[in-house]
Amino acid sequence: MNLFRRPAPSLDDLILDAPHEDLPSDALMPTVARPAQVFVRGQGSWLWDSEDRAYLDFSQGSAANSLGHSPQVLVKALADQTQALINPGNGLHNRPQLNLVDRLCHHTGSDQGYLLNSGAEACEAAIKLARKWGQQHRGGAYHIISASTGCHGRSFAAMAASTGAGGNRFEPQLPGFSHVPFNDLPALHAAVDAQTVAIMLEPIQGAAGVIPATEHYLKGVERLCRELGILLILDEVHTGIGRCGTLLVEQQYGVRADIITLGKGLGGGVPLAALLARGKACCFEVGELDGTHHGNALMAAAGEAVLKTVVVEGFLEQVRESGLYLGEGLARLAYRYDHGQLRGHGLMWGLTLSDDSADAVVKAALHEGLILNAPQPNCLRFTPALTVSKSNIDEMLLRLARAFSRVRTAQLQCRKGIAV
Ligand SMILES: *Cc1c(COP(=O)(O)O)cnc(C)c1O
Repeated sequence: MNLFRRPAPSLDDLILDAPHEDLPSDALMPTVARPAQVFVRGQGSWLWDSEDRAYLDFSQGSAANSLGHSPQVLVKALADQTQALINPGNGLHNRPQLNLVDRLCHHTGSDQGYLLNSGAEACEAAIKLARKWGQQHRGGAYHIISASTGCHGRSFAAMAASTGAGGNRFEPQLPGFSHVPFNDLPALHAAVDAQTVAIMLEPIQGAAGVIPATEHYLKGVERLCRELGILLILDEVHTGIGRCGTLLVEQQYGVRADIITLGKGLGGGVPLAALLARGKACCFEVGELDGTHHGNALMAAAGEAVLKTVVVEGFLEQVRESGLYLGEGLARLAYRYDHGQLRGHGLMWGLTLSDDSADAVVKAALHEGLILNAPQPNCLRFTPALTVSKSNIDEMLLRLARAFSRVRTAQLQCRKGIAV
C-alpha cells in the first residue's frame, strides 16, 4: 500500500487494514458508537460474530456478565423460572425476589433491599431514600455531595450526581447536588452544610478509569458522615458482587455505608439492580418507590443464581488470584510498551496509556479478536468474567500486545505520511 498517494488513510483505516464497514442498520438510533459486527453466540470468556469469528471478551458487557457468557447456572435458573413463572406483576410477591433480597441482606449485613432494573435506577432510588431520610430526620435537608469525576448513570438524578459522563447533559439539571474532587477529604468537609443529607461515592471510580478511593479517604468520609449525622451512599454498581475480590468492596476498606447500590454483575447479564439499606436509612414507606419490573421474577432468579455462585467457598479467593495474575501480566505488557499506571482490585483493572490512543487500541484489539473498553481517551479497562482462566488471560495478553504493536505501527505510518 502506497501511503503517499491519495486518499490518505486515517489512523483507523491503518489499524483496521480497511475502511469501516457499513452500519448493520440505520433504523437503530445512533446513541452509542458501536463496531459493525453483530454478535450471535457467547460461551464463558468467548463471543462469536455472525461470520463465526471468535473474540475473547475482557469487557463482558462492562462487567455485567459476571460469570461470563451463558454460564450453565444462569441458563438453568432462567429456563426453570421461565417455565414456572416469568412475572406475576410487581403488586404480587414472587419467590425469587424474596429469596434474592433475603440473601443479599444476609451476605452484605443489610437490613432491607429492593430490586430494580438498572444501576442508574438504583442510584436514583438511593437519592430518593436519602431525601426521604432528610425529610424525616434532618429538617428537610436534601443536598447530596458527590465526586466531580464520578459516574452514577444517565437518568436525571444520577446524572446530576455525576460529572464524569460527558456529552449533552440536557439542561437544566436537577438541583440539590454539588461535587468535590475525589480523594480530597478537606474539600468534602468544607462542602458539607446544614442542607447536606448524604455523601454519594463510588469506592472505586469505574468510568473515570478505575480510580480507587484511598483507604484514608473512604474511612475519613465514613467518619465525617457519622460525626455530622448524614448518610453515606456507596455506589457499588461496578465494584459489587465479587468484581473486586470481595462481595462488596467496602469490606476491603473496612467501611460500612448506610445505603448501597448494586447493578451490573448482579444480574450476570440480565437487567437487574438492587438498593440496600442499613439501620436508620431504612425509611421508605408503602407507595414511595415502584416500577413495573421492579423485582421481576425472571431477573431475580438470575440474580439468585449469580449470588449463590459468588458466595460459594473459594470462589472469591479464585477471583483475587486471577486478578493478581491479570495485574502482573498487564504490568509486564505496560512496561514493554511504555504505557502508564495500572490500577485495580480483583478483576477490575484500569491501565493508563502514554497517550490518548485508547480508542485506537480498542479498535485494534477488536481486529485481533479481543473485546475491551476505553472509559477515558487514555485509559483501558479490563473486566473479564469472574470465572476467567489463566489461559484466557495469557491469550488476552498476546492479543493486547498485537493491538499495541498495530497502533504503534499505524501511528508511525501516519507521522511519516505527514512528514512527507
Ligand atoms: C454502570 C454504572 C452505573 C449505571 O448503571 P446502568 O445499569 O448503566 O444504569 C451507575 N454507577 C456505577 C458505578 C456504574 O458503574
